[in-house]
Amino acid sequence: MLYDSYESVPYMRCPFCQSDGIQVKDSRPTEDNSSIRRRRVCSECGGRFTTFERIQLRDIMIVKSDGKRQPFDREKIMRSMEVALQKRPVTTEQIEKAVTGIVRQLESKGDNEFSSLYVGDLVMQALINLDVVGYIRYASVYKNFSEPEDFNAFLQEVQDLQAANMPKVSKKKP
Ligand SMILES: [Zn+2]
Repeated sequence: MLYDSYESVPYMRCPFCQSDGIQVKDSRPTEDNSSIRRRRVCSECGGRFTTFERIQLRDIMIVKSDGKRQPFDREKIMRSMEVALQKRPVTTEQIEKAVTGIVRQLESKGDNEFSSLYVGDLVMQALINLDVVGYIRYASVYKNFSEPEDFNAFLQEVQDLQAANMPKVSKKKP
């Protein structure tokens, strides 16, 4: 899937044959109204693809732990969450919505630059609300556990968090 930022790109090219003869077959807002989904078809090769057009209020830069800066990439967040949530009962729409929430949080701050750690924490917060297994998968990579004790300590934290404020993940009572 391709993503337009700002507005429809007038000379969008077909991802299959690079032709610019692209027609829009259908456009409608996504479920959470954060973007417009357009189904497109290439008049040259008949290839079909979907674009999402969404509002981005500001250019956001991410500062990595080595000090390098790179533009915030919504797709990257989306992909990392999809990997963490693979085969879990969470829909793409739900992930989309969570990512939109993360972007809105970044946009609502007075800053244009955020550390990758901060964004990672937002992703973790979003994941724990979606699926605990996905959260643990993401965290085990992101927190880079080196010792089994690190992981055990982390699992304990997760259980405490669940006990404290996640009544919806309640254990079934007999
Ligand atoms: Zn084409």
